Amino acid sequence: MQFKYPGLTAEHDAYRDQIRRFVQTEIVPNVAKWDEEGLFPSDLHKKAAEVGILQLGYPEEYGGIPCADPYYQIILAEEISRSGAGGLPAGLMTHGIGLPPVLAGASEALKQEIAPAVLRGEKFIALGVTEPGGGSDVAALKTRAVRDGDYYVVNGSKTFITSGMRADWVTTAVRTGGDGMGGISLLVIPTDLPGFSRTPLKKMGWWMSDTATLYFDNVRVPVANRIGPENQGFLYAMANFNGERTGMAAGCLGYSKICYEYARDYAKQRKTFGKRLADHQVIRHKLARMMLEITGLETMVYTLATIGHREGKMPVAETALLKVKASETFEFCANEAMQILGGHGFMRDNPVERLYRETKVQAIGGGSAEIMLDLAARQYGI
Ligand SMILES: Cc1cc2nc3c(=O)[nH]c(=O)nc-3n(C[C@H](O)[C@H](O)[C@H](O)COP(=O)(O)OP(=O)(O)OC[C@H]3O[C@@H](n4cnc5c(N)ncnc54)[C@H](O)[C@@H]3O)c2cc1C
Repeated sequence: MQFKYPGLTAEHDAYRDQIRRFVQTEIVPNVAKWDEEGLFPSDLHKKAAEVGILQLGYPEEYGGIPCADPYYQIILAEEISRSGAGGLPAGLMTHGIGLPPVLAGASEALKQEIAPAVLRGEKFIALGVTEPGGGSDVAALKTRAVRDGDYYVVNGSKTFITSGMRADWVTTAVRTGGDGMGGISLLVIPTDLPGFSRTPLKKMGWWMSDTATLYFDNVRVPVANRIGPENQGFLYAMANFNGERTGMAAGCLGYSKICYEYARDYAKQRKTFGKRLADHQVIRHKLARMMLEITGLETMVYTLATIGHREGKMPVAETALLKVKASETFEFCANEAMQILGGHGFMRDNPVERLYRETKVQAIGGGSAEIMLDLAARQYGI
């Protein structure tokens, strides 16, 4: 938007500048190459840790950097997304979904073993919930963990797991009890255990983040690696939901802005029928409509963050709707930008081409649009 959200201060601006510098120097020049190669180098995690990116919002005792307010995390998500490739934040920040359940409910020894190494960028943790048989209906998951003394014996598989190929641990949802939510536990599974294997997946977008199917074949996992009490894993998995949805929304805000900026700059210099594209009212209106959607999303992100900060938790229904609004805004902006860029937008060397391919995953991952709308409707008593 053209004005600064009222809660943002000079400190927030300075933080935004710092992250933007990192993204512009360490990431943007390499993005196209990494995406074509299908992976960004692991040492980017260490570089990101050196400037405090990985640690933001985590407790100091595990090497984290506490946040004064939630705006910093929104700014971080928005600025990293300005790399212009969704696979980068997805892969770089996977610990944002893998680590919170560990910190919420694992033993102190496990927290100390995992969190500092992850936050230093030396080790990776992923989240394994989705299964080949289904993702939205989490309560129906089938990967089974059967108790055998001090171990669980795990059998089953997980799919579409971000950073699944290079994860050192996977925070894994398994069935330890009967049907439904009440039979699910979370286990932190080290990926070097016998019986664990994985295969990479090819995707429509997010090429530089590795995505994998994981297989558990009689994997013996210490009971000490369980997060929280048995059969209460869903409560700990929920520790992620609002943070992930808000982060994805802030990311979509960044992607939408890039689409707008590329289209605007092109429309100002490209001439057709004797005048600039931007001088054709149809094109001007497309750009104004993009700003309308972006401003709406930006206002919603920061307003909900303000409410979440004041109340101590994000409102469930509105955060679900925020995620829908964010993916729709991104989809709209990518589509309009692509149209304004004409044939150039369709070329592989144009960042909008990549972003256009990456819109759908935002409406599917982290809770699909249909599931988010239904969650909000139920919260509203509809
Ligand atoms: C690139 C990528 C990365 C991912 N990373 C991870 C990860 O790190 N960890 C992880 O655990 N998962 C991950 N996922 C999985 C993601 O969370 C799931 O894809 C998502 O939850 C949807 O599950 P599904 O794909 O099995 O679709 P399904 O649940 O089979 O649904 C298919 C379609 O039907 C719709 N639908 C389902 N139920 C209903 C209903 N009741 N009413 C109306 N419509 C419905 C859905 O919205 C969707 O459009 C990732 C996915 C992708 C694509």
